[in-house]
Amino acid sequence: MTLKYLVGAALAAGAAAALSAQSAAQPDWPKIEDETMRHYQAVLRLDTRNPPGNEHVVAEYVGSDPNRTNVIARLKGNGRKRPLLVMGHSDTVTTDDKKWTHPPLSATRDGGYVYGRGTIDDKDNLTAGLMTMLLLKRLNVPLDRDVIFVSEAGEEGSTGVGIGYLVRDHFADIDAEYCLAEGGGVTRIGGQVKYATVQTLEKIPRGIELVAHGISGHGSIPLKSNAIVHLAGAVAKIGDWRPEVRFNETTGTYFRKLAAISPPEVAKYYRDILSTDPKVRKAADDWLFENEPRHSSMLRTSVSPNIFTGGYRSNVIPSEAKATLDVRALPDENPAKFLEEVKRVVNDPAVDVRFTGQNERPAGADARLDSEAYKALDAAATRIYNAPTLPMMSTGATDMAQLRARGVQCFGIGPATDFEDPPKGFGAHSDQERLLESELHRFVRFNWDVITAIARAK
Ligand SMILES: [Zn+2]
Repeated sequence: MTLKYLVGAALAAGAAAALSAQSAAQPDWPKIEDETMRHYQAVLRLDTRNPPGNEHVVAEYVGSDPNRTNVIARLKGNGRKRPLLVMGHSDTVTTDDKKWTHPPLSATRDGGYVYGRGTIDDKDNLTAGLMTMLLLKRLNVPLDRDVIFVSEAGEEGSTGVGIGYLVRDHFADIDAEYCLAEGGGVTRIGGQVKYATVQTLEKIPRGIELVAHGISGHGSIPLKSNAIVHLAGAVAKIGDWRPEVRFNETTGTYFRKLAAISPPEVAKYYRDILSTDPKVRKAADDWLFENEPRHSSMLRTSVSPNIFTGGYRSNVIPSEAKATLDVRALPDENPAKFLEEVKRVVNDPAVDVRFTGQNERPAGADARLDSEAYKALDAAATRIYNAPTLPMMSTGATDMAQLRARGVQCFGIGPATDFEDPPKGFGAHSDQERLLESELHRFVRFNWDVITAIARAK
C-alpha cells in the first residue's frame, strides 16, 4: 500500500472558491449544510464494508488517486505550534442487507434522519473533518499549526492496513500535538441534549487464556484430574472476582461530573463510588455492576470469560481444556503483576495462566484535561450544545491507542445521538444505523469551532 500527501479533488474544489484572507471569516452555514449533506450521502453510498473494506473508493472521493487507501491532507500553518490531526475512518462493518428497512448504502433521508451503514461510525466524523478542511482552505484561515486530515482505512478489525501502517511507516506525516477522532459524543435524552463526552483515555485489551491439563482416559471411569472440571472451577473463581477499583484523572472527573448532572437516586452511586469509606464504596460498586455494567468496567481492569473449549467425544476424558478471558486493562495496569493476580485467584497448579498476545494494543497516557485542546472542546460543547463536557475513558479500544503510545494527546468526539436509540436498534453497527440531519450539521459546526480554536492564528 502506498499513500501520498495531497489536497485532493474535493479539497481542491474548495480551494477554487477561496476568498481573500480574512482572519475572522465565518462559513455561510445554511449554504454549507447542502454541501455537507452532499458529501455525507456520497461517502455513505460508497461500499467500504470491512471485510473486504475497499477503502480506496473513499480515498478516491476525498483525495484523487484510485489506489490510495489512506489519505493524508495537510493545511500548512505558520509552525508556531505543533500540528493538529483530524481522523475519520473510511471503512464500516459489514451488513445483513435483508434486515435493513432502508438499504444500507442508500443514505436515505427519512423523517429528519439519514439512514445507512456508517452514519454514526464513522462517516460522520469523516464528513465533519472533510467539511472543516474545505472551509479552512476556502476561507484561507491563517493557522498557527498545520491541520492534518486523515481518511483512515482498516479501523474495523484490520488495523494493520490503517493506523498500524500509518504509525509504523508514516508517523512523521501524521505526528501531531493533538488528535481528534471518533469515540466521544453528545447524549440526548428525551430529545434534549444532556452532556457531551470527550474520550481522553481507553482501556487496553490483554487476552488471557487458562489451560487445564489432566490425565486422559475412558469416560466410564471418572478421574480427579479431569481437565474440564479443573477449568470450570478456575472460570467460576474468575467469574466471582472483581479486581480492585482504581481511578485516574479521567474517570475521577467523569464520575464527579456525572454525579453533578444526574437525578439524585443515581447520583448517589456516582458519589459513593468515589468515597474513601470501603463499605460505602463496596455498596456502590455492587449496584453499578448489576445496573450499569459499563460504569463498573470503567472502575477497574475487567475480566470476562468468553470462550470455553474442551473435549471431543462423550466417552473420552480429554487431557486439556481451555478458556479465553477478555481482559480490558486500566492503562496504568502492570501486566506481569496482573497475571500473577489471576494465577492467585485461580489457585490451581493444573491450570496454566498466560497472555494470548492477540488483539493487543499499546498503552498510552491520557490526554490532559488542562490542555488547550480539551479547553477548546469544553468551550465548544457549551457554545454549540449548551452542555457540560465529561472526559471519558472508553472500555473498548480505538485507533487512538497507537497514537497515544507515541505521545499524541487524543480526544474522541462525536455528534449528538439519542440515548434511547441503541436499545431500539438504531445504534452504531445496527441494522438501522442513523443520524439526525440536524445533528450532522451541528457536529460540523462543533468541529469548525474546536479546530479553529485550536489552530487558528492568534
Ligand atoms: Zn468506528
